[in-house]
This record gives sequence, C-alpha cells and structure tokens, in this order.
Amino acid sequence: MKHIAIIGTGMAGLTLARQLDGRAKITLFEKSRGVSGRLSTRRLGNHEFDHGAQFFTARSKSFRQFLAPFISEGLVAQWQPKVLTLASNEKPYKRDWFEPHYVAVPRMNSLCKHLSRNLDINLKTNITGLKKSSARDNPGWILHTGDTVWQETFDWVISTAPVNQTLILFRDHLAPKFLSEDTGLTSANLSPCCSLMLGFLQSLSLGFEAARVKNLGIKWIMVNSSKPGRPQIPTLVVQSSNQWAQDHLKDSDDQVITQMMTELESILDQPLPETAVQSLQRWRYSRVEQTLEPDYLLDLENSLAGSGDWCLSGRVEGAFLSAKRLARRMGQIL
Ligand SMILES: Cc1cc2nc3c(=O)[nH]c(=O)nc-3n(C[C@H](O)[C@H](O)[C@H](O)COP(=O)(O)OP(=O)(O)OC[C@H]3O[C@@H](n4cnc5c(N)ncnc54)[C@H](O)[C@@H]3O)c2cc1C
Repeated sequence: MKHIAIIGTGMAGLTLARQLDGRAKITLFEKSRGVSGRLSTRRLGNHEFDHGAQFFTARSKSFRQFLAPFISEGLVAQWQPKVLTLASNEKPYKRDWFEPHYVAVPRMNSLCKHLSRNLDINLKTNITGLKKSSARDNPGWILHTGDTVWQETFDWVISTAPVNQTLILFRDHLAPKFLSEDTGLTSANLSPCCSLMLGFLQSLSLGFEAARVKNLGIKWIMVNSSKPGRPQIPTLVVQSSNQWAQDHLKDSDDQVITQMMTELESILDQPLPETAVQSLQRWRYSRVEQTLEPDYLLDLENSLAGSGDWCLSGRVEGAFLSAKRLARRMGQIL
C-alpha cells in the first residue's frame, strides 16, 4: 500500500484523508495545536469565538450531499440571523440572505474534529521542507520538521496549506511546467484579515445578529453567541476587510484593536458594555484573491499534489470540492 503524507488538517486535508483512507496509508501533519485550519474556534475563559469562517454555503450537489447526514445529526445547522447593512451616516437596512448559511454545532471546529476521528494526525508538526530520498531500497519523500527529519518516507506528498505556503515547500521539486505563469500557481494568492474577538458579561442588544459594514475598515460584525448551539455568553466577532488588513500589516496588535474598536463603536452608535475578554487573530492567509485554473495541483512525475480553497473558490465548499476531486483522481492512480 502506498504511503501518503497530507500537510494540513482543514476541510481539504481531512476530506482527502477520509476519501483515501483504506486505499493508501495516510499520515497527516498539522502545525497548529488542533485540527480545523480556518474553520477554527478560539476559547478564552468561558467565551468561545469562531474566529475564521463565520458560516458556509452549499451551492453544489456534492457538498449538499456531504452535509446532509451532519445536518440530520445536528452537527451542522442553518444559521438564520437578522442581518443588517450598516454604513456611516446612513440608516441601517435589513439584508436578506437568499441561500442557507450553515455553521457547525456547537462550534465551528466541531465538523473538522468529527472528520478527524480515527485518522493518524501529528499535531504541532510544522513541515518545513521536503527532499527526495537517495536510498535505492527506500525511495520516496523525506519530510523535515524544523531541524529534525521525519522517520518515515512517503510515496506521495499532498499539501493543503495555503498556496503561498505550498509553493515554499514545493517550488524546488515541481516539474517546471507547473511554475510557468499560465498555471496560475505562482500568481495565486491569499489576502489577510483581522478578527477581533470580544466577550461580554452583560447581554448585548444591537438590533441584529450579523451586520455587513460598508465603506469602513471593519466589514462584518457577528454576534457569535447567536449561532445555533453556542453558550449563551455574549460574544462578538468583528472582521476587517482584506484590504484594510493588508494596509495595516505593519501595525501592532494594540494599534489594530484600538482602530477596530473605534470604528465599531462609531458604526454601532452606542457604547458597548465592558468587555470581559478581548483578543485579536491576524490571519496572514485568509481569502483567495485568485484561484488556480485546475481544481487541484497534480505532478504525476514527482508524486506531489496540492488541494484547498486556493484551487477552486475561497470558500469552505471550494476546499471540499478540490479535495474530493483530487481524491477521485488519486484513487485512479493508486
Ligand atoms: C476570517 C475568515 C473568514 C472566512 N469567511 C468565510 C465564509 O464566510 N464562508 C466560507 O465559505 N469561507 C470563509 N473563509 C474561508 C474558509 O475558511 C476556507 O476557504 C477553508 O476553511 C479553507 O480550507 P483549507 O483546508 O483549504 O485550508 P485551511 O483551513 O487553511 O487548512 C490548511 C491547514 O494547513 C496547516 N498548515 C499550513 N502550513 C503547514 C505546514 N507547513 N505544516 C503543517 N501544517 C501546515 C494550517 O495550519 C491549516 O490547518 C474564511 C476564512 C477566514 C480566515
């Protein structure tokens, strides 16, 4: 049986692992303390925050079919918040969502945690490089984790790390045709985003559960505690626009928090209750600016592959579909 290393345990990495499990030996590597990637949840004391993706949609039959059993079990639920559009000096107006918006229950990372069950996952293991083994009796890929070398070699390496990070790992090993401008691999890019997490002791009455903010640095205000199954301890997640995060990359965390708080209080037009907890997550790679042309990266000559939202669309569904399509193709190869 072939041995495959999968880098990353977000939606793409876990989907691939589940689809290929049994057809190959799968070992996953994740640099963070837990699985989920950009579908993560942060806990601060009694407060919980989905600080990456806030919700996801399901536009393809394949993703809807994948979600159906989880919806039946209550692990995924539709979130139907009251949504407003807010803009400075304009009256707030109601915004309709014309398609179902889903969240994992009781927190966003619950779905990936469920998908990760019984898989061979090495957490807190940052893959920093790879090298082709020169041993004739044991060819394959050798993975580096900082100064150490992973003890096993792999027939295939699949990266689901954001494209910028995948390129750092793969650049010296991919066949040249993958690095030409036409493939889009070298120009694919993800932009940053700042997520401000605010936890309160008192209840909030904002008049909405989600708000899209126009023409400011902050773009979304989510009452996280209003999502299905969340603890009734009031929490807000405030997300910046990608452009704003890019423009403020060099600001300190304190500067970013101060600026986002100032904008928040001005757009809400009311002082917020005192916060019990406050934290900032700066996503260096959050949203896909430009996706790859093919649904996945596949270098048959070198036994390297890549998958993730950067291949299809900058959404959870895109990560799932890219992984599923790569798994189908890998199934034919193995
Ligand atoms: C702030 C924000 C808001 C968003 N809002 C939405 C939304 O509303 N709707 C929606 O559908 N999508 C949204 N998204 C996008 C969505 O979260 C992603 O499209 C999806 O989760 C990507 O999954 P993935 O598996 O491709 O990548 P990821 O979830 O990024 O998984 C990649 C994993 O690889 C790991 N990794 C990276 N490098 C290494 C390495 N060298 N070694 C080991 N591990 C490594 C990372 O730690 C990570 O866990 C949002 C994302 C962010 C950040």
